[in-house]
Amino acid sequence: MQTAVRQQGKRDGEPVRDFQKRVKETMTALATQYSRADVERVVRDVLLKHLGRNGATVRPKPNPLVVNISARHVHLSQEHLEILFGKGAELTVFRWLYQEGYFAAEQTVAVVGPRRRMLPSVRVLGPCRGDSQVELAFTDAISLGIDAPVRISGDHRDTPGCVLVGPKGVVELQRGVIRAMRHVHMGPADLEYYGVENGDVMHLRVESPGCTTVLEDIVVRGGEKIKLEVHLDTDEGNAINLDQATKVELYRPEKCRCSSGQ
Ligand SMILES: [Zn+2]
Repeated sequence: MQTAVRQQGKRDGEPVRDFQKRVKETMTALATQYSRADVERVVRDVLLKHLGRNGATVRPKPNPLVVNISARHVHLSQEHLEILFGKGAELTVFRWLYQEGYFAAEQTVAVVGPRRRMLPSVRVLGPCRGDSQVELAFTDAISLGIDAPVRISGDHRDTPGCVLVGPKGVVELQRGVIRAMRHVHMGPADLEYYGVENGDVMHLRVESPGCTTVLEDIVVRGGEKIKLEVHLDTDEGNAINLDQATKVELYRPEKCRCSSGQ
């Protein structure tokens, strides 16, 4: 094969048309002379050499890792939206979020805890959902006097409630106040690249001045048409000084290799 390839070079004084004809003939000869496996092997070798790698596989380039703080917010069912903002009310877009189709709405509500402590203006996120949910950082929950458990969004078993106040009405939520568990949204290509499945946990290492930290228990939330994005809450983001971060890295925790298996 090397001989055939070497012959492709244009010879001195050779007319361009002759050269093109000869290349065509050579390519035809190559196509019949070498199997698909041969060609694939050569292409792979060239690629590996080009990329300066010795590994047996070429991993696809990952999507850019985005780490965002998800500040306290409320999700509303359509029913609750209409109680709080009036019959026929619809959410209107204040700002589009990184994930396509999701937005911070212009609407805000007051979140009231026991002993009438409250957060006066908590942003509603759209679109509406089946069940209303209030996502708070621990600092918010403590200031409201609510003992909010760490939960994956949508898991409302044994969660406390609160009172929501809008311009047209009041909703007493029986449950659904949580501190959202830190998580990473991934599309199919990201799941494959990191070698994880929905529900797995990962580590996120963040380098920032004076606050370099590894956050464990980052839950993988996979889905179609999802962009790679880590969501932390404001407590976590502030603790690691995310605004000043110079490097973020997401990886699978090392499995324990000790013989006792502990
Ligand atoms: Zn999220």
